[in-house]
Amino acid sequence: MSKVLLISTGGTITMVRSKTSGALVPADIENFKAYMPELFAGDIQVDIQAFSPLLDSSDVNPDCWVRMARMVYDHYEDYDGFVILHGTDTMSYSASALSFMLENLSKPVVFTGSQLPVGVLRSDAKENLLTAIEIAAAQDEEGNAIVPEVTIYFEDRLFRANRTTKRNAEHFSAFNSYNYPALAKAGVHITYQPHLVHYTDLNAPLRLHTNFDCNVAVLKLFPGIQQPVVRALLRTRGLKGVVLETFGAGNAPTDKWLYRELKAAVDKGIVIVNKTQCNTGSVEMGLYAVSLNLMKAGVISGHDITTEALLTKMMLLFGENPDDTELVSTLLGKDICGEMTID
Ligand code: ASP
Repeated sequence: MSKVLLISTGGTITMVRSKTSGALVPADIENFKAYMPELFAGDIQVDIQAFSPLLDSSDVNPDCWVRMARMVYDHYEDYDGFVILHGTDTMSYSASALSFMLENLSKPVVFTGSQLPVGVLRSDAKENLLTAIEIAAAQDEEGNAIVPEVTIYFEDRLFRANRTTKRNAEHFSAFNSYNYPALAKAGVHITYQPHLVHYTDLNAPLRLHTNFDCNVAVLKLFPGIQQPVVRALLRTRGLKGVVLETFGAGNAPTDKWLYRELKAAVDKGIVIVNKTQCNTGSVEMGLYAVSLNLMKAGVISGHDITTEALLTKMMLLFGENPDDTELVSTLLGKDICGEMTID
């Protein structure tokens, strides 16, 4: 019998409406289990571990990522796969973070949740969770996991976690992976796409990375952005890295002050990575003249990475390599576990 560990952190899937405020709040895990007898009726053994209290994902932070990753690491040999129940709001951040924290992963870690609480009649909770469990347990004829990656399963698609973005606060199809195809689609059958899966050396032992440095920021450019705003952010004490959200193929205004501020920051040792504001497509510095200043200032290309993946990767790299900015810059320009396409 396959064994899956279900780790519940909270999210809408576990929520009930508060009698006092009327707002949705996480209930406890026993309440959730009562709605999900199917969990214990199938041919996969499901054990549960839960955060206490369960959280809305707006309250999930890097300490929580460490707790989740540790739960996987500590029980790695005991289970065929892992499912993490999580709120949708920051699921892409958490799942991206775990994809970098769990080096040499050779078992599935599937994040899922729902847009309606489990107790609501039209809820998407059961389908999402039961399919995620099936995916976490799925193995080929040799007994190897079919998708040994950190992924997000939602509605009917399985995506590589570090390629996802929450795209919809209303529809059941809450996530998308704009720059990489789905790893599986679920209908009557689950159709896997093994040629798209990122496999690691099965003999390499799982390594856990847990140090995050949160001294990073996102700077989103817009027409009319003012120097004092940019200067205030780039001169923040202790700042180590910046995700620079640019226009189109990685373009920015050509104002001299912007170049000077960026260059001064890079010269001070701040790592700045260019991430396009477009969901689909890639940064291509040098394609337009309006990106040349960024190159000259020492800004690195983020290619087609998501903001969620870039931020979490940056935080982990700075946390793990506190005295080696050069190594952090080099690794930010490289694909570590399928998070970006470098042509
Ligand atoms: N606010 C909820 C959360 O992220 C939303 C959800 O789960 O869909 O925890």
